[in-house]
Amino acid sequence: MADRISMTTPLVEMDGDEMTRIIWQMIKDELLLPYIDLKTEYYDLGLEHRNATGDQVTIDSANAAKRLGVAVKCATITPNAQRVEEYHLKEMWKSPNATIRALLDGTVFRAPIIVAGISPLVPSWTKPITIARHAYGDVYKNTEMLVNAGSKAELLVTDAAGTATRQLIHEFTGTDGIIQGQHNTDASIASFAHSCFRFALDTTQDLWFATKDTISKKYDHRFKDIFQEIYESEYAGQFQAAGIEYFYTLIDDAVARVMRSEGGYIWACKNYDGDVMSDMVATAFGSLGMMTSVLVSPAGAFEYEAAHGTVTRHYYKHLAGEETSTNSVATIFAWTGALKKRGELDGLAELSAFAEALEAATVATIESGVMTGDLFALSTLAEKRNVSTGEFIREVGTSLSLAR
Ligand code: NAP
Ligand code: MG
Repeated sequence: MADRISMTTPLVEMDGDEMTRIIWQMIKDELLLPYIDLKTEYYDLGLEHRNATGDQVTIDSANAAKRLGVAVKCATITPNAQRVEEYHLKEMWKSPNATIRALLDGTVFRAPIIVAGISPLVPSWTKPITIARHAYGDVYKNTEMLVNAGSKAELLVTDAAGTATRQLIHEFTGTDGIIQGQHNTDASIASFAHSCFRFALDTTQDLWFATKDTISKKYDHRFKDIFQEIYESEYAGQFQAAGIEYFYTLIDDAVARVMRSEGGYIWACKNYDGDVMSDMVATAFGSLGMMTSVLVSPAGAFEYEAAHGTVTRHYYKHLAGEETSTNSVATIFAWTGALKKRGELDGLAELSAFAEALEAATVATIESGVMTGDLFALSTLAEKRNVSTGEFIREVGTSLSLAR
């Protein structure tokens, strides 16, 4: 065998839980270690180790991602009451993704992997649509009240000097009702904007952004203005040089345009729009096992992962000694995304080329008719074979070794 590809800067490796932890090891053993002298700074975010370290390992891994710039993460369990019992947890630890996102102040971009034979439910979508969701504020950090008839509701803001400003929301005459207070911050919106502009440049795709600024003349309009100001002052020249566009429109117009588009752009969404639209777009593109995710910090750190969880149901089958057919594609692409980025930052063309070859081998395997059960159920290929978790990864390995 030829010499393995060497690396200079390590990747931050965040290991995880359950079925995806098993897939993680298989990918390393069969698809990476035979070809790369893999350098990683390893953090075990498996729930047992998070518990043992009082979740310090999650914080350490996020700081490592900040320092080294590129991380790859396995899916992890977000504990709930049942997990606290199952794993005898000292505490109901927070979602690792939430902890990492808070420390990196990043935005999550989700994009589907497209393969022949798995047709999007929207026939015109021939290229991926990447959704960027602003993950701070709005209705997710609201204050709301039930209001009795006869009440008057007002917004009251007291500034640093103690001056109060009031505005009427509504006088509830004759009927009970409801009110809600929402906020966002210029700093958070600006971080979101920087992550979006950066990622558009990074992937050479147009960036779309939409709000309802005609109705929400201060709140949504602020989002529109901050994006526009940052675009003009820092990114317009780079966008022009890269041949990409920043396009702002109203959210309802955006939805209409998305439906008749061919894809191939990033759609930046406010928090609620992103919550709803990401599920719609993901479903329309096929399986969760084909959805990738990358957290991009405004300072330029990248953390790659699969969008799905630890696939618990399959893991229990695996523990019971049954054959599983779990899709490893999004986890493979998390590794290739990270390796490509590392290669690009460190000027290691060979490493980036390897990552691209691995992606091509993965897609070619599925397009040759070899796939896991989730894809088997969707694929329109005439000749197709439903294979196990391990067999799929071995087939990708064969395809990769033949291509090299
Ligand atoms: P999930 O792990 O995404 O799985 C939900 C279902 O989707 C699976 O049972 C399976 O359907 C299908 N599926 C998802 N990924 C698949 C794949 N790669 N291949 C084949 N089928 C796949 O979500 P969950 O069961 O709600 O959550 C399990 C655990 O993951 C939870 O502890 C949760 O906290 C955690 N989670 C972590 C992350 C993260 O780390 N980013 C994200 C979400 C959830 P069938 O059973 O019908 O085959
Ligand atoms: Mg949702």
